[in-house]
Amino acid sequence: MDLIHFRNSLPKGVKLLAVSKGQPASKIRVLVSQGQIDFGESRLQEALPKLKELNDLNVIRWHFIGSLQTNKVRQVVKAFEVIHSIDSIKLAKRVSKIAGEEGRKPKLMVQVKFREDPQKFGFNSENLLNEWNELIELPNVDVIGLMTISPIGLSANERKSLFRECRLLADKLQLKDCSMGMSGDWEQAVDAGATWIRLGALIFRSEPQPQLRIDINKMN
Ligand SMILES: *Cc1c(COP(=O)(O)O)cnc(C)c1O
Repeated sequence: MDLIHFRNSLPKGVKLLAVSKGQPASKIRVLVSQGQIDFGESRLQEALPKLKELNDLNVIRWHFIGSLQTNKVRQVVKAFEVIHSIDSIKLAKRVSKIAGEEGRKPKLMVQVKFREDPQKFGFNSENLLNEWNELIELPNVDVIGLMTISPIGLSANERKSLFRECRLLADKLQLKDCSMGMSGDWEQAVDAGATWIRLGALIFRSEPQPQLRIDINKMN
């Protein structure tokens, strides 16, 4: 896809996070040359060697989007500017503590589940409201938004209403950002008020092969 054209076609206020999990550093470099600076990774072990290899490209802002185990927090805090996947108060506290020790202040998105989905982690909205005061008082983090993933099997309309719930809750909590929408549902997320769409497959899909031009008049 034409990345520059795609980015320009997004409504104002919607930013593209290029999800580079499973992609080699060389492909990330190509996207950086097209002006993409925000990249998302979901597995620390996979990300670290790539971050190292791309160390010369200090324009890149790395976002951590995968489920984050407590023993990986320090490395994530050191290498990533934004964490989209804060799924418990315990994790948020640990991130804040370690960020303090490392002299960092990561931006956090709180992952919320708006439907029962045993495959996904996250707060349900009721727990989040109960723990909200504790969360925003953490000293070394900047809570900027909510993140959600729509469970598989929903219709487009159902996804859109789920994304709307996320936007409404973010507004209620006075958070600017909603990280929602992936390759299969980003349009509904944008309609519902996403500020970050997280696209992997759609933007890394290999370029179309040059069309083989066959002049049928010359075929015998
Ligand atoms: C992989 C992943 C994406 C991107 O998914 P695509 O369908 O490839 O666009 C977005 N968000 C999260 C949390 C992911 O793990």
